[in-house]
Amino acid sequence: MIKIFKFGGASVKDAKGVINLASVIETTAEKNLIVIVSAMGKMTNSLENVVSNYFSNASEVDAAVSEVYNYHHKILSELFPNSSHPVYKDIQQIFKKLTYFLKNTRSKNHSFVYDQIVSVGELASTTIVSAYLSEVHIKNTFLDVRSCIKTDANHRDANVDWEVTQQQIKAHVNPKGITVTQGFLGAEDTNNFTTTLGREGSDYTAAIFGYCLNAENVTIWKDVPGVLNADPRFFSKTQLLHHISYREAIELAFYGASVIHPKTLQPLQRKEIPLFVKSFLNPLDPGTCVGKGVTLDPKVSCFILKKNQVLISLQSLDFSFMMENNISEVFNLLHLYKMRVELIQNSAISFSVCVDNKFNNLEPLLSELRKKFKVKWNEGVTLYTIRHSKPSEIKALTDNKLVMVKQESRDTVQLVIKE
Ligand code: ADP
Ligand code: ASP
Ligand code: MG
Repeated sequence: MIKIFKFGGASVKDAKGVINLASVIETTAEKNLIVIVSAMGKMTNSLENVVSNYFSNASEVDAAVSEVYNYHHKILSELFPNSSHPVYKDIQQIFKKLTYFLKNTRSKNHSFVYDQIVSVGELASTTIVSAYLSEVHIKNTFLDVRSCIKTDANHRDANVDWEVTQQQIKAHVNPKGITVTQGFLGAEDTNNFTTTLGREGSDYTAAIFGYCLNAENVTIWKDVPGVLNADPRFFSKTQLLHHISYREAIELAFYGASVIHPKTLQPLQRKEIPLFVKSFLNPLDPGTCVGKGVTLDPKVSCFILKKNQVLISLQSLDFSFMMENNISEVFNLLHLYKMRVELIQNSAISFSVCVDNKFNNLEPLLSELRKKFKVKWNEGVTLYTIRHSKPSEIKALTDNKLVMVKQESRDTVQLVIKE
């Protein structure tokens, strides 16, 4: 049976990472694999910089593209000392197409342009990885994922057409041997333009392939030993979770445990395909298994933190109650401006909502809201979500901090804190 491996940006941030990727495949000795790779290092951010220059600072576009090109070129020169290796031409070709697009497109559709530019990260990384694997005699087939993952035209956050995707994957993917392909990308059905599945969406790509190919399991290789009970960037003492049920993992990812992209779990859960989260530095360690079985092993509290959230509080202008009619209007606007709602709280005349301003739409949203409501807002607040917590832990967490909202249910405590 086939297995899916996904390597994120951190795992292929430099030549050493690509060499390590090959050694992970050798060490695990898997023969039938789909290897999904994200853009190298922080290249998606650098390509976002190209996009913003394209729209608002044309004189800087070339420099921004060069930064991306040079990054890949450095990795190439370390992996392929012979500069006449065909991979150099392949990479040049990708950048030629990008330059052509930048010079000849006049589209004002930001999200469309974004997808055409940012996709270069994954196309370049997979071209390099596939060539390197061949170089070290790991036979593999390069697959352009855009022939498989078909989506609508909701650029930057495209929705997968599961039926067509399933057919295309069956038609294009050889279940025997090793296939290397891009995470994060898709193509819209009508004109075949490139789409993307949302930032950090490569984990989701792995799940799509896992689902469509009835894979034995999916492994996402990370720079951490597995899923920890707290984000190691913000908490010094963490514990590795050995096993997590699908349900619990969906909750953790939904609340922002960014080690797993939230959309990843539903497709796997539907077919009960196990998801492993493992360290690319210690590939034989067991890591975390998300699958059927106990909720959480070990049973410890889990801390999730989302920085830079926005808390918006609304009051009706005439002190009338905040009821279904005006709340539904608020939700329509939140949806329109692509605000991800994290938490809501309402009283008779006020309504508060904590949102993730992922697409930088706060200003236009606030100006719409001001037409109907008295609006107060705080930017840069942190949302803590704690699962299975003890009261003493909440106390320790909130000591000397300004708690703006607290919400508690049976398994979950959520706090909006101004730090
Ligand atoms: P990649 O994009 O390379 O696949 P990510 O950066 O998206 O990987 O995910 C790995 C990172 O997730 C870790 O380096 C860690 O900082 C962060 N992280 C956040 N929450 C957790 C958690 N609960 N357990 C482990 N890592 C976490
Ligand atoms: N390269 C994309 C990003 O950085 C997708 C991913 O890494 O999952 O968002
Ligand atoms: Mg990532």
